[in-house]
Amino acid sequence: MNGASHLIGGVTAAMLLGIHSPAQLAVVAVASLLPDIDRSNSLLGRWIPVLPAALEQGVGKRTITHSLLFGVGIWLLLGLLHTSWQWSFLIGYGSHLVLDVFTGRIALLWPLPYRFGIPLFGIPPIFIESLSLAGWGAWMVLGGYHHFHIML
Ligand SMILES: [Zn+2]
Repeated sequence: MNGASHLIGGVTAAMLLGIHSPAQLAVVAVASLLPDIDRSNSLLGRWIPVLPAALEQGVGKRTITHSLLFGVGIWLLLGLLHTSWQWSFLIGYGSHLVLDVFTGRIALLWPLPYRFGIPLFGIPPIFIESLSLAGWGAWMVLGGYHHFHIML
């Protein structure tokens, strides 16, 4: 899934779960993009020097940054900085993992070598992403935008 889809998925989930503060939505946005820093051409990864290429060539894509270990580690670090950001991080990061599970396979239990994915009836991931975006667009047209009242 691409960065824009993860961003839309994370922010939409947060809005539906009652997060409307701009600061918390910013945390959701970054958290929804964070796992893909293991690719140097990802939306967030292209702004970070060295690390994405090192992760991509070292541990591989959809491994450490898509794991429960990484998520819990960042969640604990946020708890030391600002506890109100933990829930926002959980929504953004969790939405990324859920979306990736339906469009591929991730090493959720890294460093264990198992990868998890839920193929939807053999439908290619690009169709799932396209259908998701089309569904999101239809939902917005039918009034879903009311959940985004602070942005209007
Ligand atoms: Zn990902």
